[in-house]
Parts: sequence; C-alpha cells; structure tokens
Amino acid sequence: MMDPNHFLMIMLSRFELYQIFSTPDYGKRFSSEITHKDVVQQNNTLIEEMLYLIIMLVGERFSPGVGQVNATDEIKREIIHQLSIKPMAHSELVKSLPEDENKETGMESVIEAVAHFKKPGLTGRGMYELKPECAKEFNLYFYHFSRAEQSKAEEAQRKLKRQNREDTALPPPVLPPFCPLFASLVNILQSDVMLCIMGTILQWAVEHNGYAWSESMLQRVLHLIGMALQEEKQHLENVTEEHVVTFTFTQKISKPGEAPKNSPSILAMLETLQNAPYLEVHKDMIRWILKTFNAVKKMRESSPTSPVAETEGTIMEESSRDKDKAERKRKAEIARLRREKIMAQMSEMQRHFIDENKELFQQTLELDASTSAVLDHSPVASDMTLTALGPAQTQVPEQRQFVTCILCQEEQEVKVESRAMVLAAFVQRSTVLSKNRSKFIQDPEKYDPLFMHPDLSCGTHTSSCGHIMHAHCWQRYFDSVQAKEQRRQQRLRLHTSYDVENGEFLCPLCECLSNTVIPLLLPPRNIFNNRLNFSDQPNLTQWIRTISQQIKALQFLRKEESTPNNASTKNSENVDELQLPEGFRPDFRPKIPYSESIKEMLTTFGTATYKVGLKVHPNEEDPRVPIMCWGSCAYTIQSIERILSDEDKPLFGPLPCRLDDCLRSLTRFAAAHWTVASVSVVQGHFCKLFASLVPNDSHEELPCILDIDMFHLLVGLVLAFPALQCQDFSGISLGTGDLHIFHLVTMAHIIQILLTSCTEENGMDQENPPCEEESAVLALYKTLHQYTGSALKEIPSGWHLWRSVRAGIMPFLKCSALFFHYLNGVPSPPDIQVPGTSHFEHLCSYLSLPNNLICLFQENSEIMNSLIESWCRNSEVKRYLEGERDAIRYPRESNKLINLPEDYSSLINQASNFSCPKSGGDKSRAPTLCLVCGSLLCSQSYCCQTELEGEDVGACTAHTYSCGSGVGIFLRVRECQVLFLAGKTKGCFYSPPYLDDYGETDQGLRRGNPLHLCKERFKKIQKLWHQHSVTEEIGHAQEANQTLVGIDWQHL
Ligand SMILES: [Zn+2]
Ligand SMILES: [Zn+2]
Ligand SMILES: [Zn+2]
Ligand SMILES: [Zn+2]
Repeated sequence: MMDPNHFLMIMLSRFELYQIFSTPDYGKRFSSEITHKDVVQQNNTLIEEMLYLIIMLVGERFSPGVGQVNATDEIKREIIHQLSIKPMAHSELVKSLPEDENKETGMESVIEAVAHFKKPGLTGRGMYELKPECAKEFNLYFYHFSRAEQSKAEEAQRKLKRQNREDTALPPPVLPPFCPLFASLVNILQSDVMLCIMGTILQWAVEHNGYAWSESMLQRVLHLIGMALQEEKQHLENVTEEHVVTFTFTQKISKPGEAPKNSPSILAMLETLQNAPYLEVHKDMIRWILKTFNAVKKMRESSPTSPVAETEGTIMEESSRDKDKAERKRKAEIARLRREKIMAQMSEMQRHFIDENKELFQQTLELDASTSAVLDHSPVASDMTLTALGPAQTQVPEQRQFVTCILCQEEQEVKVESRAMVLAAFVQRSTVLSKNRSKFIQDPEKYDPLFMHPDLSCGTHTSSCGHIMHAHCWQRYFDSVQAKEQRRQQRLRLHTSYDVENGEFLCPLCECLSNTVIPLLLPPRNIFNNRLNFSDQPNLTQWIRTISQQIKALQFLRKEESTPNNASTKNSENVDELQLPEGFRPDFRPKIPYSESIKEMLTTFGTATYKVGLKVHPNEEDPRVPIMCWGSCAYTIQSIERILSDEDKPLFGPLPCRLDDCLRSLTRFAAAHWTVASVSVVQGHFCKLFASLVPNDSHEELPCILDIDMFHLLVGLVLAFPALQCQDFSGISLGTGDLHIFHLVTMAHIIQILLTSCTEENGMDQENPPCEEESAVLALYKTLHQYTGSALKEIPSGWHLWRSVRAGIMPFLKCSALFFHYLNGVPSPPDIQVPGTSHFEHLCSYLSLPNNLICLFQENSEIMNSLIESWCRNSEVKRYLEGERDAIRYPRESNKLINLPEDYSSLINQASNFSCPKSGGDKSRAPTLCLVCGSLLCSQSYCCQTELEGEDVGACTAHTYSCGSGVGIFLRVRECQVLFLAGKTKGCFYSPPYLDDYGETDQGLRRGNPLHLCKERFKKIQKLWHQHSVTEEIGHAQEANQTLVGIDWQHL
C-alpha cells in the first residue's frame, strides 16, 4: 500500500491546499488582508471537504469486505442513524433506507434489536424509537446524512444527552476493525502530514483570527483526533503478547512541533482551547478528547511512568471542572430567576382565569358548602332538596359575575344595565339527531318551525369556544376583519377558511370558527319575577282555565285588530263586550330593563340563528326569529344530553367550561329574547303551542301529539310564557306557570310513550305483586284503551308498561333538568353529579315531580281525562293505531355512523363492484362512502355532477345537503382517506380509521399493507360528528394548511 504521507500529499495538491499548509503564517497573513476574504472562504470550504473525505476514508467500514461486518450490521447502522434524527413511523423509515436489488431493505429482521416500537395514540402513528443503548453508535459524520440531516441529528442527540444529564460531546463511535486488505488505512490518522494538518488548524483556532479557520473545520479535526484515540484504544485492548502496537497517536500528539517553528504540541493546544470562551460548543468534545487521551495513556503505560503529564491532565480537568461548577451555578441562578418570573405570570393568569369563571368557582364553592351545611347567607341552598323550578324553586342568592374581555383585557361585571359582554358562537344546521334523513326544509320562506317533529330532522345547533368579549370590542374586531378581507379579495382573489360575507370570523383568541355572538346574561327570570305574590297559587286545572280565558281574550282582540272596516269606537265597545279575565291587562307593555347594547346583541344573535337555521336572508322582524332561538336552545341541550348518555357520563358532572358557558348563555339568551321581539307575536306563538295540548276553537290544523317533540314544546312554552304573564296582574307567578307547563307537557309525553310503546310479549314477567306505579300505569293504560276505541293493542302487564315509561321519559327528564338548571341557576343536586344508575328519583325531585309520575294524572284527573280524550280523538292518532302510519318511539336511539368492516379489503371489494348510477354500468372512478348513512357515491366525476342553488356540484356535496344539511363525513375508498365537507367551500382530509400492523394509516393506499379498523379512531370521528365539531375541525385544518383552502371541494 501507498505510504499514508505520500497519499495525503497527493490529496493536498489535488485540493490545491498544499501551499496553505506549507506556509505556517498563512493564518496571520490573511487576518490583515481583508480583501482576500473570498479566497479565504473558498479555501476554508476546501479544507472542510478534504477533512470530510479523510473521515470517510478511515471511518466508513460498514460494507462487508471493507470492514469486518456483515449485511445485518450495515442495515442496523442505517436504521440507528435514521432514528438518531428523530423517532420515525414504519413507512418513513422504509422510505429513508437504501433498497437492495430486490427492493428490500432487510429492516424487519433487525429493527427489534435497535428500536422500541411505540404504539399509536388516538391521533398519531406508531413510532420506532432508538434504543438508548444504541446511542453510542451514533456517528455525526455518517456517510448517508445530508447536511440538514446531520445538523438535525446533532441537535437531537445533544438534546437527548442533556436530558439524561450526560456530557453533550458526540465523540466518534468505536468502529469495527478493517479487513486485512484495508487495515493500513488507519495509519493515515497518525501520519506526519495528518498531524501537521491537525496542528495547523488547531494553531489557527488558538490564535483565533476570524478568517483563516471555521468552526466546522475545527469540529472535523476534533472528530479525527477522536477517531485516532478510539483506534489506539481498540488496538491496545486487543493486543496480544507477540504483537507490538504500532499505532502511537497519543505519543505523537504530546510532542511539541519540531524546529524551526517550535510550535506547541497538539495536546497542549487542546488544553489551551479547552478554556477558550469562543469555543463553548466544542468544549465538551475537547474535554472528552483529553479524558480519553489520559485513559489511553494509562493503558499504554500500565505502570505510572509519566506522572507529570498525567497530573497535568488531571489538574487541567479539575480546574476546568471548577470553572464548570461556577458556570453551572450561575446558570442555575438565572434559571431560578426565570422560574420565579414564570410562576408570577402563572399565578396572574390563574387569577384571571378565576375571574373569568367566577360563577363556576362560586357554584363549586356553594356545592361544597351545601354538603357541609355552613352557608349562612343561603339557608335554602343548604337544604339537601334542591328544586329547579316552580313556586318551591330553591332561591339562589344573586351572584355577581365578573368577566374579562379578551380583546381589551378590561374587566366588567355582568349586569342588566351595563354594556353587553358576548361569547363567540357558531350556529349551524344539524341532522345529527335526525331520525329521518330524507326530510329537509324544501321552501325555507314558507317553512313553519313552531312545532319540532319528534324525528328531529331539521335542528339548529349552537356551540361556543367560551371566549368573552365586549360587544363593542367584538364589533370593532369584526369590522376590521371584514375590511381586511375585502381588500385581500380584491387583490388576491383567494378564499379563506371563513366566509366573512356570511358573518363568519375566527375567535380572536383560539381561532375557532364562529359566525355570531351570544350575550352573557343574568338569570332572566329573576328580573321579571319581581312581582312575586305568595297568595294562593292556582292548581293545574284552575291555571289551564285561566290561561285559556286569557288566550280567548287575546284572540278576540287580535280579530278586532285585523278587521279594519270597523270604526275605532266599535272596537272599544267590543272590548267591553268581552269579559276580560280578572287582573288581565292586554294593553300593558312591560318595561325592558336591558341596556341598549344588550338589546342589540339579543337581536344580533336571534337574527343569526334565524338566518343560519332557516338559510334565509336576515330579517329581525320575522315572527319566526323567536321560535328559532327557542329551537336552537332545545336542540343543543338535546344533543348534549345524547353525548353524555352515550358516554355514560353523569348529567351534571364536570362539563367542559366552554360547554357549560355555552349552554348557560344560550338558555338565558333564549329566555330573554322575547323582550326584543313583538309581544303579540310571542303571545301568538304561545297560544298556538298551548293549543296543541289544550285545544281551542281557533286552531284546527295543529299536529297531533305523536308528531310533536315534547322537549321543544316545553322550551317554547316556558320561554314564550312571560309574554303572556307580564300582562297578568292576578297574582299568578311565573314559577307557577313554569311548573304547570312542565307537568302538562310531561303528561303528554307519557301518553305519547304509552301510545307508541311496543312491549313485546316475552316471558320476563315479574313475580312480585305489582307495585304502586305499576297498577297506576295499568289503570292509565286502560283509560287510554277506552278513549282509543280499543284500537290500542292488548293490555300488557303493568310491569312492562312502567318499565317502558321510565326508559322512554329519561331523556326528556334529563334535558328538562339541564334546561331549568341553566334557566334558573339552581345548583344541581350532588347526587346527579356522579356517574351511576339512572338517577330517576333524584331527577324527579329536582324537577318537582312525584316519583310515581302517574300521580300527576290522578291529581288532575278532572281536566286530564278530557285532555287525553281530545288527544286520542285525533285522526292521525287513529291512523297510527290502525297501522296506517308510523310514529317515533321512545327512547329514541342515538344515531351512529355506519358499521365499518374490520378488514379494509372488503370495503375495496364493495367499491370495485360499484358502478356509476348515472352512466349505465361504468365503474366509478372515485367511489366514496357516506359514513353517516352508508350511501356509496360516484365522487369527483362529471357524470354525477348536479346543480345545487345554481352551481354545479359533485355527488358528495350534493349528498351533504340532503343527508347532513351541508355537513358530510365520507370515506374515499380507493384513497383510504376520510373527507370532511361543510358547505360548498369548506373541506379537509382527515386521517382514516384504518391502520396497518405498524399503527400507521396508508392514505392513498401506496404501501399496500393489510389494513384493519381502529375502533378508537372511528369513535373519535363519530365523536366529532356528535359534538358538531366537523366544521370547526375543517376550519382548523384550513388555517394550518392554506393549500386546503384552494381546493374546489364542491366538485368532490
Ligand atoms: Zn373589550
Ligand atoms: Zn375562542
Ligand atoms: Zn349520507
Ligand atoms: Zn358517476
């Protein structure tokens, strides 16, 4: 083999660097001649490259035949170095490894030896992580690293060492020995020319003039020194008796330079450099070199023959250690100060948080207090029986609520007369609870939303991120967003993730998609209930009579008004003619205590709900506005009750703050909205709603009780009632009305359940004698049987009946408890806050109901018998009982996404057999599965485009309009990709619920591993759907990835 010195000389001349290393003053010379900066730069690069080449020549031994390794070692090394950059998923790792001629990486056979597999969480992928014991094999100058990878790996490895409180030096690894043929290559490291190059560069670093050397040059020299030390150590460890170790690097670097220069030894220069302040980064490496040098030296001279050099080294080390200690102390002090500052900031933030959620904190405090009964200011609340409504409602002390505006940071109390504070909110149409997906609003201009059908087919859902602003701060913010957007659109014609023209904006704090705001209010009932009269309150029968009289009076007046041909004088005569019920003053208009700003926000949110819910142009005068507000309140409560029940969570468990705030604001808003609507319009709604249960002569075309969602009816009646009650001075309180309305609707719901119950004849009869409830419900069923002319099915057992009533009415009771809780602010009983059994008795007591619900009928038998008779007389009820039509049964089951097969290949088979429905038998190019209803669609294709609102849209977008009122969740079968769509402009791809054995998805099916259903991920998608978060998810995805905004989603 060639002499290493000769070889390096050739190399120097090839790199045209010979001149430089033979001119000892090169460094000094250039420090003054700044004009040659470019030349120096170029030379530096060449030196770096040359050093790199030497590192490669001596260090790359991992090919069988070059070094004493086999193919497994080679692939192991590749994997170790890829994982040194970062933990990787299976697919990433495969992509980064070199393939052999068979396109195999050979990875599977060795991966276990060098890496741990970390299972995927709900969102991530399965990841391989480098085993800690493999870290020592890391080589910073690994041949397959790109520059970027090298620096990433360096950073990652240093960080890891810091975390483990180790030295952060990254010394060269111990290498396998060369095969005999290449063995002499290592001598390059200890050749005179090499030592000269090392010495020269170290000298430049010692002299420290900025031009002649670079840090990466120094780093390479240090790496080479390290390699040489490792090499010598190896040689010494493997030495056998008869061999003399010829590799004597340590000796050579301890010798000072020869005459004429008399430069210091390499070792001495390293010791000098160790304390150089400008080499902070390389300090660890230099220290490692010195330590290894001492170790090698010790090995070589197994007897302490040269104590001087050694102690010198130790002293050096010691002193540097002291210095290090001082340095660490200083840093620890800085860190402590910073920690203190952060702690102060955090406690400040915490204080803000408590302020923002004062009410919540107070509530919790109160509940704590109620269990220990030490509340002096609220003796009623300490009583264990909490009642949410009615004359016996638990009186809650007025709670002051302070909130901070996220825009101006100013704090304000929520008061009736102060400026409005609002919550960012998002209103959307929903079919999540729908039991009839074929039904949707055909003509929104004519659609009457007053009665919600029990199939809940067209709901309006409201959500909020819970962030609070001043109404005027929000208005200013929204105006500026709007102005900015207009300018941007003129300039760039780009879409954004939100549609400003439709009132959409991103919450200024969390960037959550919003399209309106809800005002924050105090419990509105307290404001209007100041005419409390504790005189005898009427019972249900008397109350229904009084209300019926009032309604009759109102209808009479209304008729008078609508016949203008009569003179005004006659009008008043007729009023005299009409016997006005005692204390009823239909001309009275209550004074609205709200500030102008709050009134404005009541109108804003009401109009937004109306506009989105019905998809019409905003019109704050439309009589349907209040109905939509009540409907959105009822629907949102129902959807949250469903989520809690599905997840077996307690009704009043710890609800996320944003949900709690949203429900509270939404309920109070819906209760206050009538104050900005026309009193007679709201009265009209009340009369009609009331007439659906208590028939009168003027309403004939009302739905039968089988076709009314009772919870929506309850919310509508309760929230419309103040418009009537405010004109009633006879002393009937609002609470009495609430209670009677609630009892009346509950009874109607029980009849609804009994009429539709289908108690299958199974042998599971009870053996005990019937309990009180069972005989009562059996008696009620007999009455029903009588009124329906025996059309009702045979009388099943009382046990069956009571069981189905209890099960059927639970969702209604839970929704009602939530509703009255948020309406009146009565804390929930602690029993319902914990998970457990159905809490039927606790709910009944909180809602002022007897445990035996049938008692309601018995106590009011006089009026109820005639009401039940009138309900059963309805022709639709008759048709149902005769089997001519269907009706919703109770309890309604929760909607779920479709069942997906465990094995993805069966979906592929299903899709490959699917042909386009429009082009006669052609195979569909992009078969796409609706995960809501299971329809297969021919997506992304002209053949199945249809026109929607004057625009061409693809099959998926068209489908969302009927199936999900604009929102859709699809699986693109050929791509194995989940697609979220919302409206025509919004969409994103979402990770599919199918994983391979490595815990990874395969979007695009490029890798072709077998895929299996991941139930957790599918549940997560279903949860997004249940929570109405699909649109929000799209918004976040589009904000994070602007290219998603440009896609024409409507053509999918
Ligand atoms: Zn503000
Ligand atoms: Zn927010
Ligand atoms: Zn569908
Ligand atoms: Zn087609």
